[in-house]
Amino acid sequence: MGRMRAAAMLSYVFTVLLGSALLGSGLLLLSGCGREAVSREEYLLGTLCRITLYGNRDAGLFDDLFDRIREIEAAMSVKLPSSEVSRINRAAGDPAAGDPAAVPVSQDTMEVIRASIRYGELTRGAFDVTIGPLVELWDIGGADFRPPPETAIRGALGLVDYRLIDLPDASSLAMGKPGMRLDLGGAAKGYAADELLAILDRRGVGSALVDLGGNIYAVGCKPNGDPWRIGVQNPFDSRGAALGAMAVTDRAVVTSGPYERYSLYQGVRYHHILAPSSGRPVRNGLAGVSILAKSALAADCLSTGAFVLGLEAGLALIGELPDVEAVFVTDERDVHLTAGLVGVFELLDDSFRLACGE
Ligand code: ADP
Ligand code: MG
Repeated sequence: MGRMRAAAMLSYVFTVLLGSALLGSGLLLLSGCGREAVSREEYLLGTLCRITLYGNRDAGLFDDLFDRIREIEAAMSVKLPSSEVSRINRAAGDPAAGDPAAVPVSQDTMEVIRASIRYGELTRGAFDVTIGPLVELWDIGGADFRPPPETAIRGALGLVDYRLIDLPDASSLAMGKPGMRLDLGGAAKGYAADELLAILDRRGVGSALVDLGGNIYAVGCKPNGDPWRIGVQNPFDSRGAALGAMAVTDRAVVTSGPYERYSLYQGVRYHHILAPSSGRPVRNGLAGVSILAKSALAADCLSTGAFVLGLEAGLALIGELPDVEAVFVTDERDVHLTAGLVGVFELLDDSFRLACGE
């Protein structure tokens, strides 16, 4: 419905972007300038990555862009035993081992870890890059899912605390406790998007769309000079229709929501964003949070962190940050905006309500 109406009203061609395993988290509303657009997509970083370039015919550029994503995946994926993060995690040993020794860390990975620690502080621990033991324990989306027992949750919780990461120098890290595990799943796609932006900048590409499983970077503006229009997905719609859209130039739009990845057990849905306070999937009445920011890494960490914080604390935090805006969608279909999006975000689906004020 919303999708049909949006298409009719705005005569935009919709490109529905399939995100992680089940659903996309973002939408791009592309205008009819397809003649100049070239795009390539590959499944990387656990999601569908699509890059669309406008007015650039250099096919080699795509190779460089996707090579960069592959490089980041090879370093940061916890799904690859050969990755640097897997090596760091192995070096942390198991909970019965002795104190973990410091291990070398590449510049890329260190940058993501340092940023993650900063966002851990900013979100008062709602975003926690050491969430690994809980992610492993819950194994959301894994085969034969069942919620873990309370004792196991408590055990894993004791290993989750980004403040225990020790960074003795610029290129090494020691976990503060044996058994701790990094998980960069809430930050790596954002970092990758920023790195792609840097390559595009160097190549003088002024108009492009980067979509890493719903982590979108709208580079420059459309070839005709208009801003991009980025949709925010209806979190209740399995087809991925947009509930609203906004004009965006040179910004990342990153969404976190329970609909991205989840498991069902005895009729209950368990999703992949975990509260470092309870050790369980967050259940706070939020259906999705989209963050608009200059840095995709910031937007990625903040979308996950704000989702964990919840509507009130999340809105208050994002409202304080300069040049960062947010759209919060509740289970009740209320849409809350930070001040900078009032009059910019356009509601396209009238089954949702724009909550006025903050
Ligand atoms: P997506 O990966 O679907 O784009 P997010 O950016 O919100 O969504 O990241 C969710 C991922 O981040 C999870 O799959 C997990 O790897 C990790 N994660 C889960 N809870 C937290 C948390 N509280 N803090 C940091 N990372 C988290
Ligand atoms: Mg995130």
